[in-house]
Amino acid sequence: MNTDITKQALAQSKNLMHPFHGFDMVAHEGPFIIDRAHGMHVYDSEGKGYLDAVGGMWCTQIGTGRKEMADAIAEQVMKCNYSNPFVDNANTAQTALAAKLAELAPGDLNHVFLTCGGSTANEAAFRLVQLYNVYRGKPEKRALICREDAYHGTTLLTSSLGGRAAPNWDESWYLDSDGNNVLDIHKVSSPNYFHHGDGLSEAEFGEKLYQEVVDKIAALGGPDKVAAFLAEPIIGAGGVVPPPANYLKRVWEYCQANDILYWSDEVVTGFGRLGHFFASEAEFGITPDIIISAKGLTSAYAPLGACIFSDKIWNVLAEADQGRIFNMGYTYSGHPISCAAALKNIEIIERENLLEHVHEVGPYFMEQLQTLRDLEIVGDVRGSKLMACVEIVKNNKTMEFLGDEINFAVGHMVGDAAQNHGLIVRAVANMSIMSPPLIITKAEVDEVVAKLRKAIVEVTDILRAEGHLADEAA
Ligand code: PLP
Repeated sequence: MNTDITKQALAQSKNLMHPFHGFDMVAHEGPFIIDRAHGMHVYDSEGKGYLDAVGGMWCTQIGTGRKEMADAIAEQVMKCNYSNPFVDNANTAQTALAAKLAELAPGDLNHVFLTCGGSTANEAAFRLVQLYNVYRGKPEKRALICREDAYHGTTLLTSSLGGRAAPNWDESWYLDSDGNNVLDIHKVSSPNYFHHGDGLSEAEFGEKLYQEVVDKIAALGGPDKVAAFLAEPIIGAGGVVPPPANYLKRVWEYCQANDILYWSDEVVTGFGRLGHFFASEAEFGITPDIIISAKGLTSAYAPLGACIFSDKIWNVLAEADQGRIFNMGYTYSGHPISCAAALKNIEIIERENLLEHVHEVGPYFMEQLQTLRDLEIVGDVRGSKLMACVEIVKNNKTMEFLGDEINFAVGHMVGDAAQNHGLIVRAVANMSIMSPPLIITKAEVDEVVAKLRKAIVEVTDILRAEGHLADEAA
């Protein structure tokens, strides 16, 4: 084993620190090195192919290695690979993309601030929300309500907006050394029914969550103190958590009635994953004031983020002759190559009817994954269309979880076993998360499910041999 490509990459990888660098994993197992990617598949440095059921990192919507994308990018490089984007400068790729996004976005979300990714687009939204209230003479209206299990990025601010609780994860950047909440960020419960449903019906659970938001706003001093509610329509990295029916819609209606902005992070749910360019209105009946997009926006052919916001916010910010500047922007904000990639990506999604395809293949994906529930350690299979999660427990009759340490590792055990069978799923604690490219076929869905089944059966045997399960399934 170990081709020259592997040997060289392993030697060079000593100089590389990964995002979310897993020090122990990298030290003990070495990095998993991909050399090539095409369509739904990636190939490691040994030449072994894998079906990538994670779509890179929820982002390779149209599939990788498309010549048409390479041509569009090359064309933009030769036309204008860069121009100053600051203050009152723009390039034609940016203006064309802004107009297209405004056309695709719901309601009066007609304004587009382009960034380099999802975290930076959320950072922009935070500033827009605060400026909107300061400029309206309501500077005391600044509290933000976000949720446990949420993920909004990893800048200092966006990690603070998130709510993932894990032993190796710190979300407390917004607290100063005395524990003061300097950014006025407040959390409400995760809508994870499997973990927190406590025997309630879905409607009762939704009511409880809605009431918690209303109570939180009251506890913060009422709507006059609260600037915005922030949520992913379906929580992604926090375990693929669809909300109970109508909960988000009721929160949105409350926000509308009480002058609180609704900020929808569609970095994962957008760009086709749920069968729409944006899912907030189409799937959940919400017309937010702000939508965040990234990832599938370019199908990962180039980095890009977008904060798309309403006339209501724009009109307050843009009041004429105030000498105002929005003090945020990066050298590579809305890079023209990324904008050209996004425009071509949208053209392909539309031309190939990929949104319609997701409406057909997505339910099939969820249906087939549900068949895994007959395995004794599969506790939950949840998601919607092309966002899915399989959660492992000790025994799915009692729904008891494995002990802490093994519970945290079992997702990786399943991930490693799947990888041996040529399938990539994303391990998060005791979960296998999947978000395949929109081009996945029903035959590929069958392959994903068959390989995942094999992996879970193998892990069940290991867990039993190591004494983590009862001798026989109860
Ligand atoms: N928001 C959500 C819902 C995400 O899932 C992510 C990334 O996974 C982000 C924001 C951050 O995006 P980026 O990694 O492009 O900064």
